[in-house]
Amino acid sequence: MVKAIVGANWGDEGKGKITDMLAAESDVVIRFQGGANAGHTIINKFGRFALHLLPSGVCHQHTVNIIGNGVALDLFKFEKELADVVAQGVPTPKILISERAQLIMPYHVLFDVYEEERLGGAAFGSTKSGIAPFYSDKYSKIGFQVNELFADEDYLRNKIRKVLDIKNTLIKHLYNKPEISEQEIFDYLMKCKEIVTPYVANTFELLQRAVRENKNILLEGQLGSLKDTDFGIYPMVTSSSTLAGYGAVGAGIPSRAINEVITVTKAYSSAVGAGEFVSEIFGDEADELRKRGGDKGEFGATTGRPRRVGWFDCVATRYGCMAQGTTKVAMTCLDVLGYLDEIPVCVGYEIDGKITNEFPVTHLLSKAKPVLQVLPGWKENVRGITSYEELPENCRNYIEFIEGQIGFPIDIVSNGPGRDEVIYRES
Ligand code: GDP
Repeated sequence: MVKAIVGANWGDEGKGKITDMLAAESDVVIRFQGGANAGHTIINKFGRFALHLLPSGVCHQHTVNIIGNGVALDLFKFEKELADVVAQGVPTPKILISERAQLIMPYHVLFDVYEEERLGGAAFGSTKSGIAPFYSDKYSKIGFQVNELFADEDYLRNKIRKVLDIKNTLIKHLYNKPEISEQEIFDYLMKCKEIVTPYVANTFELLQRAVRENKNILLEGQLGSLKDTDFGIYPMVTSSSTLAGYGAVGAGIPSRAINEVITVTKAYSSAVGAGEFVSEIFGDEADELRKRGGDKGEFGATTGRPRRVGWFDCVATRYGCMAQGTTKVAMTCLDVLGYLDEIPVCVGYEIDGKITNEFPVTHLLSKAKPVLQVLPGWKENVRGITSYEELPENCRNYIEFIEGQIGFPIDIVSNGPGRDEVIYRES
């Protein structure tokens, strides 16, 4: 059984918690795209963790955690994150890194910084982890795959010289910054080799076998549909595909093997960074929701940046779920809304005087105004409730109203950040 856990929205939907929870019955958990530029928060018996690169199965001893070929691999961040997790008392997890994964290089991070500097006010709000330059190089075919660290020195030095030819031209003439030397990059790669050696594997063969043997496999997505390079709010998107379909590519399994796509969405909306966000709210109303949101307020797990918040957006979520090929939806953070008398929900967009429930392309999206429908709140703390029927009627109505709007079954409801705070509602 292969399940993908992915996001319907801008990311931070609570995928980490759902993955950690489902990892209990999984043999393998795989990260298939993105890098250390976003975080997954998990809370369990070992404590609270903000994972960036490590798959969310690391707290389970029986789970093999794989960093797939589709990931942007920063080995120094990997090493530190692993040390931190172990220092917090988690037994050393089983981790494998695909020999085809590519490396974040020092100049990727530098290019992120230099480019944001060059763009000034028009910057993308990058997390400066080198992700966009990394993926540009991957598709320009000048990236370094993990397996190349084990090639002859001549091979590596030759390649470094070729790549630096391009990089140093830009560094010198576009950014006017100090050039990078061949030795600097060679030393960096040798340090990478030292870090990666215990973990590197032919994860393709391993996963193909695991699929054949019908093992329980979880594909863990980063960010959400609206940050997908093709289907997201381009250009304010990430540089890799965030869709379950890409899971097959970024992990190396047959696409037909993915049996279940669990798309995670929050009971309200949140987003980090710039970009279209139609149901966004501001002022005191937003501050209150931000303060009460998530497990510690809505602040980025990687950057600490305050997240933008808003009402649940049925238009964006319906689209986000379709893009993922959703089989079931997990709605998180339902407990957060217990303080509200009334809860607005965005059910349509008004664009140039016309109302639509189809998520439009970005230049039209930027003109969209939310059409809100106000639902009654439930004014109750729903944490600790374990069966769907015990939820207050208005709370169930809220879930069922949204389910009707998005057209996908909300089968999992999360009513607290902890691993066990969950209600299964099989439809
Ligand atoms: P991810 O990137 O999709 O894994 O999401 P993040 O970890 O960045 O953000 C989700 C936030 O919501 C974290 O602070 C989680 O601890 C928190 N969270 C997840 N599920 C729930 C829930 O049901 N209730 C509450 N209150 N917080 C939750």
